[in-house]
Parts: sequence; C-alpha cells; structure tokens
Amino acid sequence: MARLELKNLHAEVADGDEKILEGVNLEVETGEIHALMGPNGSGKSTTAKVVAGHPAYEVTEGEVLIHLDENEFGDEFEIDEDQLTWNLLELEPNERAALGVFLGFQYPAEIEGVTMSNFLRTALNAKIEEREELFEEDEGDEDEEEDEGFETSPMEGPADEGEVGVAEFQEILSEKMEQLDMDEKFARRYLNAGFSGGEKKQNEVLQAAILEPSVAVLDEIDSGLDIDRLQDVSAGINALRDEVGTGILQITHYQRILDYVEPDHVHIMLDGQVVKSGDASLAEELEDKGYDWVREEVYGTA
Ligand code: ADP
Ligand code: MG
Ligand code: MG
Repeated sequence: MARLELKNLHAEVADGDEKILEGVNLEVETGEIHALMGPNGSGKSTTAKVVAGHPAYEVTEGEVLIHLDENEFGDEFEIDEDQLTWNLLELEPNERAALGVFLGFQYPAEIEGVTMSNFLRTALNAKIEEREELFEEDEGDEDEEEDEGFETSPMEGPADEGEVGVAEFQEILSEKMEQLDMDEKFARRYLNAGFSGGEKKQNEVLQAAILEPSVAVLDEIDSGLDIDRLQDVSAGINALRDEVGTGILQITHYQRILDYVEPDHVHIMLDGQVVKSGDASLAEELEDKGYDWVREEVYGTA
C-alpha cells in the first residue's frame, strides 16, 4: 500500500511573492478515490502543478511525500528501509513516475513524428528503467544492471532486457484502449497532431492506465467532455482503481463527474487550504448549496 502525503504545503508564484497555497494537507492511499473540490481560484490546479514540480511555483514550506510499502514492487525489487519515503519535490519527473506517482500527461513538444503508441511505450520503459536505477534489482536476477542508454532515438530499436517490446506493448495497449472505448486508430496518430480537448483527457487516462501508478493526480479531467466521453473517461478511472488499485486524487470544480466516479472522500479547498473534508455526501451538499455556505462556516461570513 502506498500513500501520497501533502504536508503543510505552501507555495507562491516563482517570479513574484503572491502566496497561493497556504498549508495544504492531504493524504491519498492506494485504492482510494479522493475528490478535491473548490471554487475557481482556490488553488486546486496549483496544488496539482506543485506536486508535479511545475517551475512557475516556488514551494516555501512543506513536503510532498510518497510512502511506499516494502512489497510495493512485488519481488522484483528489494526496497531498503531508508527508501520507503521520498519527497517528490526533490525528484525529477521520471523518478516520480518510477515511484508510482502519476501527475498528468506531459506533451513533449520537442518530439516530432512520434505516434501515440510509441510515446506511451517509451514512457512505460522509462519508468521501468528509472525504477531499476532507484532500487537495486533483487538478487537471483542474473542480468546485471547495464546502463545502455538510448543510442539513437528512444523511440527506435529493439527492446532492451527488462523493457516492454513492441508486440507485448500492443497487447497492453489494446486492452487498455478497449477499457476506455478508444478507437485503435487513436494510437497511430502523431503526438503533436492537434488532439481535441476531450482526446487529450482520454490520452491522460490512457497513459495512467498503462503506467499503472499507485497514486494518480488528475486535474479537471472532466472539463470539456461531452457526456459519452465523460462516461468513457470515468470508466477508465474506475478501472484504474478497481483493477490496478491506483489511489486517485480527482480535482474538479463540478460535481458531475462524481456521479460516475464515486469518491470515498471529498475535500474542499478555499484560499489555498483544505478547509473541510467529508464523504461523498459533501459533494452533493455542494451541488445543492454552492460554496458560499462553506465560506460562511469557515470564516463566519460569506
Ligand atoms: P483553481 O485551479 O482552484 O481554479 P488555481 O490554482 O489555478 O485555482 O489558481 C489559484 C490562484 O492563484 C488564482 O488566484 C490564480 O490567479 C493564481 N495563480 C495561479 N497560477 C499563477 C501564476 N502562474 N501566476 C500568477 N498567479 C497565479
Ligand atoms: Mg516567489
Ligand atoms: Mg484549476
């Protein structure tokens, strides 16, 4: 069981001193679905971006910890006691992914002519490779760690040992795309070939489904989706939780997606802090009464 812990997180705009996050506390464990809600401008996206290490923000206090279980990766890797807890803020994006944290889809703008399928396979192999670098391979695994690197392009060439090859990946991809009710053609499209808003959201869930993270942070995955796509994306998120066991931090302004992805816990953010937490009924209360009553409850005035 892994747990993502945001601990007294304070952040401000990197090139200014405007404070945005003022002590966010939040914990998401494997297998749980948490909804982070709040009015526009309350700091939800900033929370997601800070956890992902976005350079526009400076963390002035607090930590973002991932706590691993010693059996996190089965018998594939031994995890030493001093490797159970990591501060994500000190790690590279690849390392965060290798530790099982999914922080939203990254579109690598610089890569041209790469299909979605190739890109996703590369992301999966990068995670596997990075994990081998972070943790020692268990003894009895005879192939010694060799740092082969990528000679030409990471997108080409046969799979190295331990990597997922093209044929094997096709099977994984087909299965996940079926889950998301995505057309096979989608995987053959080029990465930078203008995906629609809805398609980008599907890409994000697809990538998460392939990387099989312990915890995923999904920011406004429901925005701009028509009802059919919303249902597909929701089915994908539910499958991620039910079949992979991923813990989900679902950031949303609207209650709508929560009809399809039922949260175990709901948190309300106001002015850079989580001010109230509850179960799914809290989201329904928000639907009925809006956010003003929370403000009233917290500050004694609307
Ligand atoms: P939410 O996602 O809850 O709508 P955000 O996290 O996007 O809110 O924004 C929180 C507050 O921080 C807003 O007032 C927003 O204008 C401000 N903010 C966010 N990012 C920046 C930035 N890069 N520069 C200046 N202000 C920012
Ligand atoms: Mg600053
Ligand atoms: Mg936002």
